Amino acid sequence: MTYEAPLYRPPSEARSLILQLTLGCSHNQCTFCYMYKGKPYRVKSPEAMREHIAWGKAIDPGARRIFLADGNVLGLETPLLLEILTTLYREFPALERVSLYGGPGDMLGKTPEELASLHKTGLQLVYLGVESGSDTVLQQVRKGVTSEEMITAGVRVREAGIHLSCMLISGLGGTTHWEEHALESARVISAINPEYLGLLTLLVEDNTPLHRQIQQGSFHLLPAEKVLAETRLLLENLQVTDCTFRSNHPSNYLNLAGVLNQDQQRLLAEIQEAGEQGRLRPEGWRAL
Ligand code: SF4
Repeated sequence: MTYEAPLYRPPSEARSLILQLTLGCSHNQCTFCYMYKGKPYRVKSPEAMREHIAWGKAIDPGARRIFLADGNVLGLETPLLLEILTTLYREFPALERVSLYGGPGDMLGKTPEELASLHKTGLQLVYLGVESGSDTVLQQVRKGVTSEEMITAGVRVREAGIHLSCMLISGLGGTTHWEEHALESARVISAINPEYLGLLTLLVEDNTPLHRQIQQGSFHLLPAEKVLAETRLLLENLQVTDCTFRSNHPSNYLNLAGVLNQDQQRLLAEIQEAGEQGRLRPEGWRAL
């Protein structure tokens, strides 16, 4: 089998060649996450990696973009990652960009010098699931880091010259912590100042710890109109520079796109208008 399912990639990597060098996520504890629950973390053997790269070359020898899966390839030892990057740029002559998912713990586990050497060898973009800037929410969802560690991780990647795409999850604070979730997320993203910011909206899958919390009554989902209020509070308090912002995932109630902070007022006006006109994606149409 070429890929071991399930296989995930960011929406912006739809045209990239996906090479699966690790399986699952080494953290695998976030209460809302369903992605790799039945897939124990494993690093492919060097031989299996070589075979998979050779397969990728056979199907897409002119690949310009490669995304390395699964959950957190940045967790690999730096010498191995450098070897993989060198191999990819040698085997794919048209290659312009290599990207991957990285957890905050993976970033904190690398020195600034290691990250700089990865960038020099061709690592162009890392996707970081920030999820929330609130320490309360981060702890509740078992993200495994504090907001300050998240900031240190993100800033370290950016200072190495690697582009950073951060993701937040609307509604992750539920009805109890939505304001703190918005304000603290704005604080953390402003401190990191990433090139890209994506906003998803919480969708709860069966068989996740969060689903059980909802059934037990200890977590209450944020209704759609409050999700809009939360997004408004987030945007009002963000201070970033030339950050490409997207809230256009099928999970979102409202599609938004712009560059922050320059498009802040237009985006706030769009939220206001959609709220007044009730122009939100119906609950049943939201999807992962
Ligand atoms: S770090 Fe990412 S992939 Fe891993 S459990 Fe958390 S949300 Fe899921």
